[in-house]
Amino acid sequence: MGANTTISWTKRTWNPWRGCTKISPGCKNCYMFAAQLRYGNEPHTVVRTRTWNDPLRWQRQAAYQGKWEFVFTCSWSDWFHEAADEWRGEAWQIIRRCPNLIFQILTKRPERIADHLPDDWGEGYANVWLGTSIELNEYVWRADVLRKIPAVIRFISAEPLLGPLTDLDLEGIHWLIVGGESGARYRPMKLAWVRELRDRALAQEVAFFFKQSAGRRPETGTLLDGRHWRQYPRRVSSVPVVSVGKGPR
Ligand code: SF4
Repeated sequence: MGANTTISWTKRTWNPWRGCTKISPGCKNCYMFAAQLRYGNEPHTVVRTRTWNDPLRWQRQAAYQGKWEFVFTCSWSDWFHEAADEWRGEAWQIIRRCPNLIFQILTKRPERIADHLPDDWGEGYANVWLGTSIELNEYVWRADVLRKIPAVIRFISAEPLLGPLTDLDLEGIHWLIVGGESGARYRPMKLAWVRELRDRALAQEVAFFFKQSAGRRPETGTLLDGRHWRQYPRRVSSVPVVSVGKGPR
């Protein structure tokens, strides 16, 4: 998938590889599996796609327009999946060439991040946000691993939220996204769990984004206590934008 997306917290998706293996309860109803089966693809096999040059094209367009754009990276896989180890270095190089794109990399394998960053990562690429998914209290350790990784923005996606995350430590986290599961087999989410996370995020000045309630259709039930919560980390306004005089090609 390489075009605009309906995921409300991003603009585009980029999948240099697709396919994945389920790793925790949040994966149970992973939309990628059903979608790939519909397309006649084997979802358990991780394969390269033909979208590798898409970000370079988006970069030219964004630079021409003097703006930046979000790119959710690996919506149909996991950026840090072991099956992609041989390709990831090449993908980091593409990211480095696209300063006007902010790559939002979300993983359920944060324990693999430290050993699979590029050599020049330093304190983190200016255009990469690193995130991890947490669906239940027993996986809050993923945030503990993530907070030790240098990154300009660290974020948590609590989607699908399957229980209260009372043990989640938001120290060192800049952005918290919360959402219920969608699809025919959606599992319920209590708004009390969401409120508790919202209140702690606000108290700790962590940007809070409520994506959706649990339900059959995605991006429905987006109000919480009568309003939308669609905050982004403050540092988003300090992202450097590169402008060029040439038109997009
Ligand atoms: S890690 Fe993500 S892409 Fe992979 S199976 Fe789980 S939900 Fe699906």
